[in-house]
Amino acid sequence: MQQIDLLIVGGEVINAFSRRFLDVAVSEGKVVGLLNSDAPKPPARKVIQAKGLYVLPGAIDPHTHLGSGAKVFGNIPATMKACTQALALGGTTTVMEMIPPKKGMTLFEGASQARAEREGNMAIDFAFHPSIPSSEDSVMAQLENCADEGIASFHASFEGSRGREALNEGILYHLLTLARERRMMMIVHAEDSRLNEAIIKQTPNAGAVEKVSSCRPWLSETSAVRRAVFVSELTRGPLYFEHLGAGPSLNAVRSARLAGLPVYAETCPHYLCFSEEIYKTSRGVEFLKSPPLRRKADVEALWRGIQDGTISSVATDESLALLQKKREATEQLPAYQVSGGLNQIELRLAVMQTEMVVRRGMPIEKVVHCLATGPAMVFGLYPRKGTIEIGSDADLVLFDPKVTRKIRNEDLHQGTDYTIFEGWQVQGIPRMTILRGTILAEDGCIVGPDDGGQWLARKIDPSVTGGPAA
Ligand SMILES: [Zn+2]
Repeated sequence: MQQIDLLIVGGEVINAFSRRFLDVAVSEGKVVGLLNSDAPKPPARKVIQAKGLYVLPGAIDPHTHLGSGAKVFGNIPATMKACTQALALGGTTTVMEMIPPKKGMTLFEGASQARAEREGNMAIDFAFHPSIPSSEDSVMAQLENCADEGIASFHASFEGSRGREALNEGILYHLLTLARERRMMMIVHAEDSRLNEAIIKQTPNAGAVEKVSSCRPWLSETSAVRRAVFVSELTRGPLYFEHLGAGPSLNAVRSARLAGLPVYAETCPHYLCFSEEIYKTSRGVEFLKSPPLRRKADVEALWRGIQDGTISSVATDESLALLQKKREATEQLPAYQVSGGLNQIELRLAVMQTEMVVRRGMPIEKVVHCLATGPAMVFGLYPRKGTIEIGSDADLVLFDPKVTRKIRNEDLHQGTDYTIFEGWQVQGIPRMTILRGTILAEDGCIVGPDDGGQWLARKIDPSVTGGPAA
């Protein structure tokens, strides 16, 4: 029998639709064998005992703004090294980032520059979603160019902040038609800016922290979701709603999926774990985020959406923020304009396993689906990523479901002065994170290279752009 690089023995391999006790054989960065425990073992250069542990596919965080962490770390290389190591420690092996338009650059030039700045500074694999600034013909041509180069998704917003043109039905019609033809995934920030403006005008003391959820209300999100779903119905263009927080928005997504439309929903740990009442407390500033937290009934509706598969993906939408800076910003701006990160990139897997499996009795397979398989399928990385199959990249997390830990910001590696999960008790931690066969993190320490992350060219499967397939 040929010698292999790595053999992981005795663990339980968890995929989105299966769990089995199998030994995992790895060579040249790929999974080359999944062996029953009584099968003859190939000789291996390294053997890892995984008795009592889950072997999970490396998690994928499909929605981040890591680049804006340069505010915390001073420059892009330092930001990327720190953030991707934090991600690796938390069990994430692939990260996707929104790339905003750069002045005077095409979308592809902007993405190429971002790639050049990141290569050699990423501990984990990475991919991009360019944010489109407008719907001009030149931008459409640039999107085609991106698709040819393996950037199979893009981002646009109904809200239209930061110099971007706000989406409307006409622009959507154009973009979704292109997305369908070129098998791209269109990511939509669903928040109706006209509704927000009208409501802000009518709200007394609108700039206060305790008013953020009423100034950017759930109905603004649902309005934009319904408008976008209607255009997807007309064009059959594939849509992914980022950071949904409102129950009625999910109802629209659910109906669209039942009707066979390629419509996908993402939510984030903060919408699942907190609700808008927190803005009325002394911790309110910590939770300023665009869009804001929602009502308690919405939180319950999101959990139903996870349970019934309406939600395909749980992402952090991380951009890192210092609490001091957020406080200063609320002195200069209305609170509904203050955004920034919630500092949770390292915590997603442990928090979600605790909330889904320990607190709500869901199967661990569901965690794998929302954190790895769903994002991999939607964004064209499956089955290379997001699952443990023969031929997949050997991106693996050895996860101990029994260990408990209290979250403290001072133990985290993202360089910020707080996390929204401070003091939370989690059950289950990643004991080892492996990227393409190389051990990156072990027992809370980085042990692997901080520069081995590769940029990923992507192609989305026609089943995903043609109907609800994840
Ligand atoms: Zn975002």
